Amino acid sequence: MPLSLGTAKAASGRIVYGTFDLLEHPTGGVEQLPVVIAQGSPRGPTFWLSAGIHGNEHAGLQVLHLLLSRELAKQLDGTIVCIPALNPAGLRTMEREAYYHRGDPNRLFPEPRPPRPRDFDVEPPSVLELGYGRLFSEIRSTADFWIDLHNTWTGSVSMIFRDRIYYRDTGTSAEKKAARTEAEKLDQRVGEMCRAYGHSVLNEMGCDAYFDEKLHRSTTGAAVNVARIPALTMELGTGHMPDPAIVRASVAGLKNVLRWAGMLDGKPEPIEGIKIADPGFPCRRRGTPRVTVPCVVRHLVEPGTIVEKGDPIAEVRDIWGRPVAEKILRSEYDGWMMGHSHGIVHYPGKAISGMGVRDEIPTVLPYPPGFFE
Ligand SMILES: [Zn+2]
Repeated sequence: MPLSLGTAKAASGRIVYGTFDLLEHPTGGVEQLPVVIAQGSPRGPTFWLSAGIHGNEHAGLQVLHLLLSRELAKQLDGTIVCIPALNPAGLRTMEREAYYHRGDPNRLFPEPRPPRPRDFDVEPPSVLELGYGRLFSEIRSTADFWIDLHNTWTGSVSMIFRDRIYYRDTGTSAEKKAARTEAEKLDQRVGEMCRAYGHSVLNEMGCDAYFDEKLHRSTTGAAVNVARIPALTMELGTGHMPDPAIVRASVAGLKNVLRWAGMLDGKPEPIEGIKIADPGFPCRRRGTPRVTVPCVVRHLVEPGTIVEKGDPIAEVRDIWGRPVAEKILRSEYDGWMMGHSHGIVHYPGKAISGMGVRDEIPTVLPYPPGFFE
C-alpha cells in the first residue's frame, strides 16, 4: 500500500500535493490542512515535518517551502510527509490560537494515560482537538521521525527544544529496567538528531512544570512520550517576519538530519550565519530574571550570549526614567541568553528574558508518582 495522507498519495521520485480534512465548519465547508509528500525510494524511513501550529509563527512555513522540491524528492531514500500549516485559522488571522479553540493549540495531542470518565461539567474536546487526534493516529502509524517548526520572540536565537523522555516505573524490576532501557534508547536517538541539526539546544522544563504546562501534550511531547517517535521542536527566532539567515540555517540543519537518518547522501553542511550558544554544559529553558516592581527595562545582553551568574542583564527604571528597585537586574544562573520577552514595560513578577540555565535534571525520567492514577 503506498503511503497516503488525506488526498495526497506518495509516488516514488515525485513530490505530490493534497489536503487532510481537519474539521467541518458550521457555516459549511471543511478546514483542510495542506499536505506535501516527497518520496524517493519508498523503502526508506518516513520523516514528518510540520509548522505553523501557532498561527503567528511563520518561519517554518518558509523553511519547508525552500526544503521541499522535486530535486529533493528524487534524491531521497524514503519519504517526507509535510504539513506546512497545522493551524490554518491562526495563520489567516495571524494569531497564536485558532478561533474555534480557546487555548494553546499545541497542548491538544493525546495523553500517555487513559482518558478519565467524562465530567459533564467540563467542556468536551474541541473540534480542533478531535481533528489533531485523527492526525496523530496517522503520524503514529507512519512516522519514523518528526520535527515541528516554531518561533519564539523577536530577536531570539534559533534553537532546539528537546523533550525529556518519561517511562513508567512500575511492575517487576525486570519490567522497570526494560521500560528505562527503551526510554534511554529513544533519548539517545533524540540526542543524535539534535547534534545532526547543529543549532543551539535547550532541554524542556523539568518534571512538574512540564506536566503542569501540558507540554507532554505538545506535538513533540506526545510524539516521544505517547508514540515513542524521535521528535524535536525547532524554534526559529522571530516569528512574524522570518529571519532569512535562520531560515537558511534551518534548511541546512534539516538536510543534515535527513543525512543522519540515512535518507539523503552527502556530507553534513556547515551551519552558518546564525549564533550558536554552547556554554559547555547542558541547559534547560527558564524565564529569568523576573522584575520585582512595575518598571521599564533596558536589556544589556544580546540573545546568543553566554552569561555567568551575577552578570548584569538589564537596567530597571520607573516610567519617569529614574532607576528603581535593584537598578540593575543580574543573572541568577550560569547559562546563555535565548531571547527577550516582548515589550520593555512590565508588571512585577514578569520574566524579562528566556535563558538556557545549567540543567542537572536527567533527560530520561520516570513519570511523576500518581501520574497514571
Ligand atoms: Zn510555537
